[in-house]
Amino acid sequence: MALVEGPPETPVAFWYVSWTLFGLIVGSFLNAAIWRLPREGVTMTHPKRSKCTSCDATLTWRENLPLVSWLIQLGRCRSCKTPISWRYPLVEVLTAGLFLLTAKLTGPEPSLLLFARWAVLAGLVVATFVDFEFFEIPDQISIGGMFLAPFVAFVVPELHDSTSLARAMTDPATLAAGGVDRIASLAACLAGMAVGGGILIAISWVGKLLYKRDAMGFGDVKLLAAAGGFIGPGGALLALLVASFAASIAGIANLIRFLCLLRKRARDRGTGKSFGRSLASARIAARYLPFGPYLGIGIGVVLLAWKNVVERLFAL
Ligand SMILES: [Zn+2]
Repeated sequence: MALVEGPPETPVAFWYVSWTLFGLIVGSFLNAAIWRLPREGVTMTHPKRSKCTSCDATLTWRENLPLVSWLIQLGRCRSCKTPISWRYPLVEVLTAGLFLLTAKLTGPEPSLLLFARWAVLAGLVVATFVDFEFFEIPDQISIGGMFLAPFVAFVVPELHDSTSLARAMTDPATLAAGGVDRIASLAACLAGMAVGGGILIAISWVGKLLYKRDAMGFGDVKLLAAAGGFIGPGGALLALLVASFAASIAGIANLIRFLCLLRKRARDRGTGKSFGRSLASARIAARYLPFGPYLGIGIGVVLLAWKNVVERLFAL
């Protein structure tokens, strides 16, 4: 029981509303990163203000409000009326949703653990959308994450509270008090990076031997290595498992989509192309799926709910 009454507590609803708005604002910065990082001649600081990608008109602050501007302008540029991609509001709403969910799972009061988790998720959102469009993951995210991870693991050891290695390295008294110590967290981070990067290098090496072609991009290797620093070695393996599962479902869905398209075309043109030949073409067309977005899903799931994932997996 508390001996001294604290100040009146801030209602949790206040935090949830604030974090959702904050997520929208961060999402609009992530949109800028998704556009700028993979392109030549622009950086995060140059040009200072965002421009319409179609008519080059510099956007005023009114045209740059997250979500609101897009809705008011009905998804079009105010100067040239060119439609603005739905990716912009999607990234903003997604980031706001992820920030809110993280606050629900971590606790709504501001904490270093909450900020660290947000930072990882923000990086994953950028990696996901750049990979979908360009089939590459920006080094600023993957290599940047690898440099950031040890620092964050040391400052926010709570990140590795459920990493077995960190728990094994922490003395029982500290563990009983509720967490792992900083050095143990740092060790879990470095081991996580080695396992995350190592497992994908091993898989791509085996893939090359078996299929004589590159099965895995090096961007994926760097992304899972960076992620391992935040979710530990076991977390990195689990994230890869979840990612492979998500990618298989997406791969099958993509194959069916191409198959339907090809069958429709064969019917419309009356070419009499056999089902087998359509399936063969669909398999080639559906082969090119980026893996980064699914890695992002796996890493995000493990980061936020990895205990639940393990319990569900072993309950199967
Ligand atoms: Zn325009």
